[in-house]
Amino acid sequence: GVRLHEELLRVKQILKAAQINFTVAKEFSLENVSLLTENILSMCMKEAVNNVVKHSGATNCFISIEQTWKEIVLTIHDDGIFKGSREVATEGNGLIGMKERLEFINGSLDLSLKEGTTLTIRVPNDVK
Ligand code: ATP
Ligand code: MG
Repeated sequence: GVRLHEELLRVKQILKAAQINFTVAKEFSLENVSLLTENILSMCMKEAVNNVVKHSGATNCFISIEQTWKEIVLTIHDDGIFKGSREVATEGNGLIGMKERLEFINGSLDLSLKEGTTLTIRVPNDVK
């Protein structure tokens, strides 16, 4: 599995190569998160950024991650144009795969199409 901070380095390189500006809202520091949860969050971040590069035509991408006592919220926003249909799980494999993995750990995936595309990923804060 891949740790979140490692995936973040890869994501930075991928976005740089695609000439998309990248902002991280807060430095990534998760405490007491199980490896399974961290691996799934990494996979979601990777796939979300792949989608930004492949589909969005965005100039900017923002990522934030916040941990509260209750949950971890990972947000990937881009200022491009969403090309798919509103229903998340209808086409492609990426978004469906994310949803399936998140359901496995009682997480959720939300898609918002205001001023670009925002993917909000929530997972329970499962202290190990
Ligand atoms: P795969 O992930 O299997 O390579 P895919 O990327 O086409 O295929 P999904 O990741 O499930 O499939 O995404 C579904 C569709 O939603 C995409 O084909 C694209 O049209 C649209 N989409 C997803 N993310 C974005 C984004 N950030 N900006 C614009 N369109 C997007
Ligand atoms: Mg995809």
